[in-house]
Amino acid sequence: MKADIKEISALEKRLTSPRRQHLTAALARVSFVLLLWFTWFLGKLLSMSIAAGLAIVVTLPVFCGLLLRRLFTGRSIFKPVDVYGQNGHLERLYYFNCRRYYLKNASLFLFVLNNRIDLTGLSIRRYDRAMLGAGDACLLTSKPGIFNLWYIRNATKIAHGGRYKIEMEYLHRKNPVGDILLILKSIPAALFRQDTDNFSGKINIFGIEFMNLRMFEAVDLVTAALRTKTRKTIFFVNPYCLNMLLDDPDYYQALQQADAIFPDGIGVNLACRILRTPLRENVNGTDMLPFLCQAAVREGLTIFLLGAKPGIAARMKNNLEKQYSGIKVIGEHHGYFKSGEETDQVISAINAASPDILLVAFGVPRQEKWLIEHGSRIQCHVAMAVGGLFDFYSGNIPRAPIWMRELGLEWVYRLWQEPRRMWQRYLVGNPLFVLRVIKWKMFAAQKRGDHAEQKQQ
Ligand code: UDP
Repeated sequence: MKADIKEISALEKRLTSPRRQHLTAALARVSFVLLLWFTWFLGKLLSMSIAAGLAIVVTLPVFCGLLLRRLFTGRSIFKPVDVYGQNGHLERLYYFNCRRYYLKNASLFLFVLNNRIDLTGLSIRRYDRAMLGAGDACLLTSKPGIFNLWYIRNATKIAHGGRYKIEMEYLHRKNPVGDILLILKSIPAALFRQDTDNFSGKINIFGIEFMNLRMFEAVDLVTAALRTKTRKTIFFVNPYCLNMLLDDPDYYQALQQADAIFPDGIGVNLACRILRTPLRENVNGTDMLPFLCQAAVREGLTIFLLGAKPGIAARMKNNLEKQYSGIKVIGEHHGYFKSGEETDQVISAINAASPDILLVAFGVPRQEKWLIEHGSRIQCHVAMAVGGLFDFYSGNIPRAPIWMRELGLEWVYRLWQEPRRMWQRYLVGNPLFVLRVIKWKMFAAQKRGDHAEQKQQ
């Protein structure tokens, strides 16, 4: 027994001796570095293999095509472009000399193979020192990549936060699994991307004109109206709304009387693609609210929440007050009241508060019709019809995760949440909407043709 105790204490001494401890710490450090290096090596191996595969499948055929073109027309195969590499160094990349975005970029896989850029990373930016903005320096420490978050958010029209914010978000979340998902998400994003910088100020679908702005421009428009105390009634349209207006003349009339309409959702983006009238951004109410709240805090504007089930608007008010310190939500009321006396009471409550911004959330088309019918009696500066927004901001219904929105699948999430209510809206409504847009396109082309004929005569 004594011998055992002696042996144990000797072992304990050996294990806790400073030399031993030092050795264990050094071993832990080395294994950590080795693990990091191994992860980096695996990531690099994977990205090089993908780049090599894509170079064979994509770059090589395009190169052969352009080589043939060069033989017949003499046009050069490559076009040099100076971009920012790691640490802000100038990198000269050679793009294929084509106009089409995807053909032009097909050469870039070669530059991944020679380690000048990465497969996934920050967006590739043209070298122009004069264009560098505040904070860009920290972005430039990382390498640009062919597949990047800015591209995906831009293609799906949800790059609301701006380039810098999105790049920072990528850097914070960067991990190998996320990078693989980024490559996969780029595939559907290609379906939504529009290859142009030529945007019209307004887009017309089914006779309804909506504004084609970036989110910050739309928010500027609203805040300018608030500053000058100009009355504005603002609506949003998605494929469900656009389908509905064809069957509901009163709703159509209500939309015609709006001061501004903004496009909501990936379906409108797809319609704009079909119509070849590129959409700048998906300016939906749910994504607009945080910008509006920031402006409200900055400029001391007041908000009234009207709509949703009893208790929801109050919960949203609490959440907004927690999130935006100093925000003034000066009143709220649920959206289940009758016309006549109850409506008069609600309007009196709004007028007593006299808010700058009135958010109305009764769902389409009731909210739009209600605002047009009673708008002249309501004292507020900007009135917006915002649909299910209160349910999201109160926490009553969770919003689709960002990866689903990046895939253009927010509607699938809504369908999954409320299949009974939503199946007709999405499963019947979405294909019907696409068919109607194609028909609208043919109608618009015919109208243009007739117009040109009349001019000639
Ligand atoms: N709602 C309301 N009063 C009504 C009917 C509905 O306040 O008479 C609310 C409902 O509780 C929900 C919102 O209006 O919060 C409609 O949500 P939905 O997702 O249908 O909005 P939409 O897709 O029409 O924009």
